[in-house]
Amino acid sequence: MTADLSTSLPLSALENAAEFLPRHIGIDAADEAHMLSVIGEASRRALIDSIVPRSIARSSAMDLPPAAAEAAALAELKAIAGKNQLLKSFIGQGYYGTHTPGVILRNILENPAWYTAYTPYQAEISQGRMEALVNFQTMVCDLTGMPIANASMLDEATAAAEAMTLAKRSVKSKSNVFVVAGDAHPQTIEVIQTRAKPLGLEVRLANSADEWNTLLDGDYFAVLAQYPATSGRIDDLRADVEKAHAKQAAFIVAADLLALTLITPPGEQGADIVVGTTQRFGMPMGAGGPHAAYMACRDEFKRSMPGRLVGVSVDVHGKPAYRLALQTREQHIRREKATSNICTAQVLPAVVASMYAVYHGPEGLKRIAQRVASYTAILTQGLQQLGAPVRAQATFDTVSLHTQNATQSIASKAISLGANLRIYFKEYLCISLDETTTRADIELLWKIFAKDGQALPTFDAFEKGVEPLIPAELRRTSSYLTHPVFNTHHSETGMLRYIRQLSDKDLALDRSMIPLGSCTMKLNATSEMIPITWPEFANVHPFAPADQLVGYKELDEQLRAWLCQATGYAGISLQPNAGSQGEYAGLLAIKGFHESRGDGHRNICLIPSSAHGTNPASAQMAGMQVVVTACDASGNVDLVDLKAKCEQHSANLAAVMITYPSTHGVFETSVKELCALVHSHGGRVYVDGANMNALVGVAAPGEFGGDVSHLNLHKTFCIPHGGGGPGVGPVCVVQDLVPFLPGHATAGVAGGVGAVSAAPLGNAAVLPISWMYIRMMGADGLQAATETAILSANYISARLKDHYPTLYASENGHVAHECILDLRGLKETSGVMAEDVAKRLIDYGFHAPTLSFPVPNTLMVEPTESETLFELDRFIDAMIAIREEVRQIENGALPQDNNPLKNAPHTAESLLSGEWARPYTREAAAYPVAALRSNKYWSPVGRVDNVWGDRNLSCSCIPVADYA
Ligand SMILES: *Cc1c(COP(=O)(O)O)cnc(C)c1O
Repeated sequence: MTADLSTSLPLSALENAAEFLPRHIGIDAADEAHMLSVIGEASRRALIDSIVPRSIARSSAMDLPPAAAEAAALAELKAIAGKNQLLKSFIGQGYYGTHTPGVILRNILENPAWYTAYTPYQAEISQGRMEALVNFQTMVCDLTGMPIANASMLDEATAAAEAMTLAKRSVKSKSNVFVVAGDAHPQTIEVIQTRAKPLGLEVRLANSADEWNTLLDGDYFAVLAQYPATSGRIDDLRADVEKAHAKQAAFIVAADLLALTLITPPGEQGADIVVGTTQRFGMPMGAGGPHAAYMACRDEFKRSMPGRLVGVSVDVHGKPAYRLALQTREQHIRREKATSNICTAQVLPAVVASMYAVYHGPEGLKRIAQRVASYTAILTQGLQQLGAPVRAQATFDTVSLHTQNATQSIASKAISLGANLRIYFKEYLCISLDETTTRADIELLWKIFAKDGQALPTFDAFEKGVEPLIPAELRRTSSYLTHPVFNTHHSETGMLRYIRQLSDKDLALDRSMIPLGSCTMKLNATSEMIPITWPEFANVHPFAPADQLVGYKELDEQLRAWLCQATGYAGISLQPNAGSQGEYAGLLAIKGFHESRGDGHRNICLIPSSAHGTNPASAQMAGMQVVVTACDASGNVDLVDLKAKCEQHSANLAAVMITYPSTHGVFETSVKELCALVHSHGGRVYVDGANMNALVGVAAPGEFGGDVSHLNLHKTFCIPHGGGGPGVGPVCVVQDLVPFLPGHATAGVAGGVGAVSAAPLGNAAVLPISWMYIRMMGADGLQAATETAILSANYISARLKDHYPTLYASENGHVAHECILDLRGLKETSGVMAEDVAKRLIDYGFHAPTLSFPVPNTLMVEPTESETLFELDRFIDAMIAIREEVRQIENGALPQDNNPLKNAPHTAESLLSGEWARPYTREAAAYPVAALRSNKYWSPVGRVDNVWGDRNLSCSCIPVADYA
């Protein structure tokens, strides 16, 4: 019998099988009809019309290419990637070739268990990644010789700028001068200059040894030296450190971690702050990012240190447990008085770097470094034999040559032979080696410098008795990475299991929805992720000649054009590498605009009390003065108060920063009037774009009155959160602010306010993710995603309204793409706090919604368009079941201090060991709903004690004895 293969479906329907849209959006037509009936609206169109104010609706649809299926989009992007040229890079300057160990590449960088996790604010479900981050902190402390290190910075240049402000806050010197060694990496100098200007700090560059000595004898609050210098030279820092300390100033060192395995660490030379990048520990160059930078400092500075810090504490059972330490320094609590605006950092790259150290161990790292140092010595000898103008210097991995007017021709010859050398101050060449350098590479380098007919040195001739060019007094004698974690998992089997053991402790999107309001934890589709490790994107140096980066240029141009369509703005820069950095860049644009018109006195920034903490922290960094404005009873910006403050500060008004739809989850109807009001006082409107998932295709901030926005590509545009980074925070502006977007002199990119990131395209290597998303969704798909996100939030709000009222809604009772569940009443009736519900959700297998932001003791839920109706209902049913548990406390069946909520999360051990003396059953603790019996997540620790950890601060690997 032959099967009948004919079909009544049109061909186009068969072709749709490859469509991406239904893969991205979890809700189908039948689900949608059901959800609308629960909400009480006739159609999705009617729902959206009843929510999005007519006055802000888009004037026209987005002009984007029609949606491409997954395979077609990948093929198109592959062709773009192919326009990048892969030459062997000897450029150095902070970016080096590295081998990502396969076991780390596949099981971390390409593994959703790691890359779809959220920032570890909920400690109990984040123990795995926090252990990896404590390993990172320990690795940095050991290699730098410093007592404390944080869990990553955005890049080396911004880390250096943060070190400058940390020093300013911490030292006794009252000077405003910051001395920077001229042979620091140029991109670091550039970012420091950008950061110093609005703060009124004066950067003095020392361009020679004489200038350096003169400046160090002067007055300053801190000094920064690169170690080894960008030209490769290694200097003994001890005498200079003493000079700085005599001036009550801080000494900052930007140091290379691989070099530190062989040379005396800055901590042993008296440095106060050490920063740098961990890129060459397994993260590909990726045209500049993402990579984890690090910061370590002396103990006295730790309460003023920027960035996240993972600390060791204990859980309710007295067992060691990790959690984020000293959070009171951070922007979400201290706002404009925060130590920095950093929120999203570089967790995933930090995990990769830490695992690289776990994988290689101290001996392996040392071998890699010794090979680099030996090859550098051999390269030098061969070049000398050829008569090349090698500069004599102590060095680890870089040879510097004074090639004078032959510089350009030698560099061109190198390119024709497939190698990029670095041109330094026009008449020098620098050659940096790395883990990937081979004998053949060294011979190629000799060939580049050989004159016609000159005999080439042979590698073998130098092999015996090769001595690295590191002087005896600068060689490292102290040990590092002695903790067992760096000395155990050296077989691939062991490493694989260690990685798996950690990820099994964590809840990421690969296990359940993460309904975090304001964070947009949507699908990070595999097809979107695939291109980031293509060699054409991964293995290019950010400062390679522009004609080798044509693929990235095209990616940048297309993505910016599409994002302009999505936002209604005229110009965009992709350089900022997190939302916070986009805010900062946007405020600098506003400041630059005012200054260009002789209005430099305009420095007041009005920010509603409900704003995200990064907003006031960024305004402070941009040198603006923050004035907080009120919100009214329905959660909207209080227009009366705003008007009064605009009038009061009219002459000095720089900007107003709002979030739209508001962080209260509501589309305010008067946003156009608000923008007009601010404009009438000469101020500019900053619209925080973190909530763009409620707007794309529906309304455009650049059309309804915004002048500047940042986007979070790691929220709305599908870059995964990585456990707390990487992110991309493009800054988008209207036409007259385009001249004030960031530039990048080091990379030859002209531009207004200077560089805000180390690399011209910031976290360039993750941009393909957002490109793929937009390319596969098309204009209609993106609009459908927005509308479905709004539908799902309203469905949750509607189904939960009899159990947990939604705090803020528009007059018809609807919300935007997220809803705030009001739990404040429960305290009075049962003693239950929102945090107890958040922890109890862990027992039900969920990551909690956003806790107590923007309103204390509430939960903010954002389901996104990607979740299925099944998962939405599972969450809603869990919330309802928890409400029933609260009712048992309310009616006295359970005591207020001993119930499933207060004791949550329940570990397996606490249920199994000893007598069970609680007023509820073990089954009620572990399996409150039946489905958990077949799919159960067990919290690895009980509730973590935050206060204990801050009182007994410890931020490196737990000594083995403490596990006993
Ligand atoms: C996430 C967020 C930010 C900060 O973005 P990062 O990328 O984490 O720096 C700013 N504003 C709002 C409203 C946000 O939700």
